[in-house]
Amino acid sequence: MVKLTPMQIYMLLPKTNCGECGFPTCLAFAFKVASGKANVFACPYLSEEAKRKLSEALAPPIKLVTIGVGENAVKIGGERVLHRHEDKFYNPTAIAFALSDMLSKEELEKRIAAIEDTRFERLEEILKPDLIAIKASSNDPERFAYAVKVASENTSLPIILCSFNPRVIEKALKICGSKRPLIYAATRENLDSMAKLAIEYECPLGLYEPEDLELLAGLVKKADNMGIKDLVLDVGFKDLRETLEKLVLLRRLAIEGGKKEYGYPTIVFPSLSVNETDDLADFWEITVATSFMIRYASIIVLNGSKPWRILPLLVLRQGIFRDPRIHPKVKPGLYAIGNVNEYSPCLVTSNYALTYFTVKSDIEASKIPSYLLVVDTGGLSVASSFAGGKFTAEKIVEAMKEYKVEEKVKHRTIIIPGLAAKISGKLEELTGWNVIVGPRDSSELRVFLRKISTT
Ligand code: SF4
Repeated sequence: MVKLTPMQIYMLLPKTNCGECGFPTCLAFAFKVASGKANVFACPYLSEEAKRKLSEALAPPIKLVTIGVGENAVKIGGERVLHRHEDKFYNPTAIAFALSDMLSKEELEKRIAAIEDTRFERLEEILKPDLIAIKASSNDPERFAYAVKVASENTSLPIILCSFNPRVIEKALKICGSKRPLIYAATRENLDSMAKLAIEYECPLGLYEPEDLELLAGLVKKADNMGIKDLVLDVGFKDLRETLEKLVLLRRLAIEGGKKEYGYPTIVFPSLSVNETDDLADFWEITVATSFMIRYASIIVLNGSKPWRILPLLVLRQGIFRDPRIHPKVKPGLYAIGNVNEYSPCLVTSNYALTYFTVKSDIEASKIPSYLLVVDTGGLSVASSFAGGKFTAEKIVEAMKEYKVEEKVKHRTIIIPGLAAKISGKLEELTGWNVIVGPRDSSELRVFLRKISTT
């Protein structure tokens, strides 16, 4: 949450009440900024000093770091709270797959294609991995650079360059340095050389310090003094509990303790086995990764050779990083489910995503092709929107007109949810259509639709 009070923000505004920010007065604008609902830079008349002070004061305690360029660039960090209910989490944990530079060109291409093909659609979102990490298992600059070249040519995903050897990283940066890869990682031993490369290529830098958080803070301060602002922290992983505790502590110290040296996104490698043919290791890796995702990991690098296995992780991520204040919804409209024709039944429901998908799958299970008219209820379920006056006969009439239901079907019958039975009379009156009250629970639609289609 923004730590400045509305009055502190107001004191830095021009106080001319010109209204160009979209609010009638500077004070009203200051209140919105303080509650996180407006961007202070929407005021075009801030002095340079005010800009500097506000940027510092309003910056999230966990720094926002970007890896990659263009539309596939990955943003991590930028977080403001410990718990989602205090605000929301802003940038989802990025999921990377690691590939060794010991793989042949054909195998690298095959694995990259499998990673690129890993896509699942859920609640109108495409869920997919975000990054490719190339590991310098060979410690050979030439071999690593070649693997990075193959990866760069075959993927549009941003890359993580994994080696503790600056010579190996330098060679690879000559190939992909302009694409802003994450350099992973600097340690106490190689910080100077790695930092030089990060500055030269303007890339974010990973810092690896598994021993102690104070040593990690020392590393951060050194890197910061050298002018590197985009850092990603790795506390190591030997013991699940220890790593989880460190991740929580980092977040707590940055957000509640105001310790800037810990205010950076994190990276973890949950792999417990390097045996990529071991199915159990793959599944165990995903299980461990879920714990890290729940406890603030910003990047999770997986070893798994079968990318489709990350589905549970992607679904978990979607749940954690949804804004809890916004109901998941689908676009209102008239949806054809199955091979419909002008005599297909027409049902109505709300645009709460879970309601829509449940009703849709129950209609599919009935094997009776049907139209489903989805009314805009602001993402509320039928029961809630009916109780709150958002699922009304008038709203349904509006939707019927907007989505031209009359032109799609020749019959004049509409089926409303049982939970909204009370509006049937009004709807009949407004439309002149025959209104049938459907079941209260959509799981009964299968029997219901079959029954009405035979009468
Ligand atoms: Fe005040 Fe700036 Fe908004 Fe104008 S644009 S009302 S000066 S905050």
